[in-house]
Amino acid sequence: MIKADIHKADIHNHLGRNGANPGFDETIDIAHARLGNGGIFGIANSDDFRYEKFVEQKGGKYKRITVSDKIGVYVPEKQMFVVKCQEVFSKQGHILAIAMPHGKNIASKEARDAIKEAKDLGAFLDAVHPFYVEGIGKFLEQNPELLQHFSTWEVYNGSAVFIPGFTTAFANKKAMKFYSSNLLEKLGNGVGMSSSTDGHSVESIGKCYTLLDYSTNSFQNEFRNITSVDKLHIESNWFDMYKHAAQLGGILK
Ligand SMILES: [Zn+2]
Repeated sequence: MIKADIHKADIHNHLGRNGANPGFDETIDIAHARLGNGGIFGIANSDDFRYEKFVEQKGGKYKRITVSDKIGVYVPEKQMFVVKCQEVFSKQGHILAIAMPHGKNIASKEARDAIKEAKDLGAFLDAVHPFYVEGIGKFLEQNPELLQHFSTWEVYNGSAVFIPGFTTAFANKKAMKFYSSNLLEKLGNGVGMSSSTDGHSVESIGKCYTLLDYSTNSFQNEFRNITSVDKLHIESNWFDMYKHAAQLGGILK
């Protein structure tokens, strides 16, 4: 699919508020500045279609080649791949479905049903910020038979910032500890580790990423194969996260 030796992948991003972005080419340029040729970034729908709106928007000169199964677009001028994802806000915690088909979203808010829907659509799963606010870590700890359905475990989320009284402390440390003691040893290469920005602005895309080498020719298996922190680039996205929190709280527009 993409011919480059290294792929810096920041799979978990939301663009700006309700999918706001400065334009297709401009967004690609910003992401390319951090991720370079071969770069991969994910845009996550929530209960909206911001990914579809992003790739279908008018304007811009870069070619947008729809990849097989319509799970993303390839931009040859910049050798970049934009992947469609969806963050499902299930009652039991958030789940990121990666490589979702264009035009389709998961409807269920029950984790078990959402997992099934994602699999039926051909997507694979990322346990995002598992021990942060609304993470699914606790539920999976109590229902370990579900762990096998996940291909990657977000051991570092750039936006899992501790705000006393509002968010969870040491969320990334807990995610890493759980991964090391429960997933790496028990499930082997079934679940890989990953680092993502979880950005809520285009400017933050690519602050965190996971290095995929694409030796298996399967996007899902590349994520499964990451079992070492050497493959993770981490950087706190605290400023963007505070801004997003303030917007949600109605303090900022
Ligand atoms: Zn997110």
